[in-house]
Amino acid sequence: MCGIIGYAGNRNAVPVIVDGLKKLEYRGYDSAGIAVFGADGFDVVKQKGRLAALESRLEGSVIAGNVGIGHTRWATHGEPSDVNSHPHVGSKSKIAIVHNGIIENYKRLKERLERKGVRFVSQTDSEVIAQLAEYYYKGDLMDTVIKVSGALEGSYALGIMCLDEPDLLVAVRKDNPLIVGVAEHGNFIASDVPAVLKHTNKVYYLEDGEIAVLTKDGADFLNMDKEPLKKRLETVSWSFDSAEKGGYPHFMLKEIMEQPKVLKDTIHSVMSNGENKSVADGLDISAFDKIVITACGSAYNAGVVAKYVFERLCRVSVEVELASEFRYKDAVIDGKTLVILVSQSGETADTIAAMREAKSKGAVTLSIVNVIGSTIAKEADYCLLTSAGPEIAVATTKAFSAQLVLLYVLAARFAVKLGKLPPESFAELMSEFETLPDKAKEIFEHIDLIQKHASECVVCKSIFFIGRNIDYAIALEGSLKLKEISYIHSEAYAGGELKHGTISLIEEDTLVVAISNCKRLYGKIMSNVEQVISRGAKVLLIGCCPEAEPSSYDGKLSYIGLPEITELFSPSLSVIVLQLFSYYVAANKGLDIDKPRNLAKSVTVE
Ligand code: GLU
Repeated sequence: MCGIIGYAGNRNAVPVIVDGLKKLEYRGYDSAGIAVFGADGFDVVKQKGRLAALESRLEGSVIAGNVGIGHTRWATHGEPSDVNSHPHVGSKSKIAIVHNGIIENYKRLKERLERKGVRFVSQTDSEVIAQLAEYYYKGDLMDTVIKVSGALEGSYALGIMCLDEPDLLVAVRKDNPLIVGVAEHGNFIASDVPAVLKHTNKVYYLEDGEIAVLTKDGADFLNMDKEPLKKRLETVSWSFDSAEKGGYPHFMLKEIMEQPKVLKDTIHSVMSNGENKSVADGLDISAFDKIVITACGSAYNAGVVAKYVFERLCRVSVEVELASEFRYKDAVIDGKTLVILVSQSGETADTIAAMREAKSKGAVTLSIVNVIGSTIAKEADYCLLTSAGPEIAVATTKAFSAQLVLLYVLAARFAVKLGKLPPESFAELMSEFETLPDKAKEIFEHIDLIQKHASECVVCKSIFFIGRNIDYAIALEGSLKLKEISYIHSEAYAGGELKHGTISLIEEDTLVVAISNCKRLYGKIMSNVEQVISRGAKVLLIGCCPEAEPSSYDGKLSYIGLPEITELFSPSLSVIVLQLFSYYVAANKGLDIDKPRNLAKSVTVE
């Protein structure tokens, strides 16, 4: 959450930073701001609301400078307002900062500074960083940054500028992501790679406790003892185009449509001699007596799908835990537990904490992430990378699909190693698996039908999703997607559980989306469909159900058919229909699909 960027170079930093912020806006959009060194000190412009509001403010201004910092905020402390927006400048107007994270001891620090006469203007935790830095500053910015870092508790990625050292841009992090991009015309700090892709694909990944010192000519790195560090310059394979809308009205639609390719690339990465193959092959599953999958949001739902797949194929019991709960529950795990962490960004705060908790208890950790160089990718014992490319829309689509693919393959490989899946059956399963990208493409042929059903749901107050077994697992994701972007209340229920609760909420014309790919349970889910229809509901049936007869339900049942695929992989097809359905409901309501209210991507705070 919160996107920060900084630039030191030959160009005017203002347009460069604003452009970079556009690529970070998915991280927060309560307010945005920018600070550059002007002729008479810092020029700061900050504005509540979307980045577009800041851009309008900047249109009339003539601020310019070669070094600057920018911020797009997801407020944690203090309401979204102009004054709470970043950058924050100390009361001596000497130091300006942008901050991503939470300073947990800010109240104590603030009170201490107030007693010494420092006057605070905002309600944020972040302002204390600028004030404290000014208080400590005695002519050496590096000493100041080290002292400030020692005093702060919590998490932070910081961009810092000092009036007395106007050529420098300094960055430091603890538990929040930060990269350093090196371009021909200048150097960058940023929360995420897409912010710099227009200028460079050469980046350093900053680690906790490291300080980056940027000038227009280069980047140096120091540790907290002021000793120089040698870091590896990485080349990112993501292209600039991959972080552009490419003619689509929203990133979300573009990312949904990219899924056949993402499925193909991710399958390739693990099947042939791809980067993931050795990891998936190397892990000795027989060394574990338990698997725990822990994650947040959609990644958690991927874990629920995976539980069905692992248990079916491997006959090993799998627990799926929300990372925010797992981290505090004193989990019963040890060296014989494999803990799988799933996170698109690799920076999800709760998942990082869950990983560290698992490691401290001696468990072996395996991460599935989309961002190479991210904290979870680096700290987990093993890492599988999804080949989804940058995902910009806040609601995940293609990264979720790629996570599923890696989890399927892992389960199948483990099953072979455990002797639960004969190699011939594995080969059969994998050849079916390789048909997924083409079958995903077939779904796009029915886009009009999905759009039509979605347009009828704009007025719905609540929509329920039901399924059984693995269809229930993917119903969870369908429901989450709808809530996230359409603001329609929704719940996912296991079909058999309806009668124990949700059925009391069914009224005339309530929409129930029923997922059905488990052939052996078709009759069961159809009984649930009958139960809700007889209480007035309308049902949209999604799945591979050749025997479905919508015409015999008096207009109460509609059907969207899916290509046939083995039950275990069917969530990968169902989810595409569910994503498109949510997308078109939100589009029909005219909502800001890529940036749904109150949400942000890459949840780097607790
Ligand atoms: N805590 C800071 C604020 O509210 C930064 C928030 C964040 O990084 O999400 O302004």
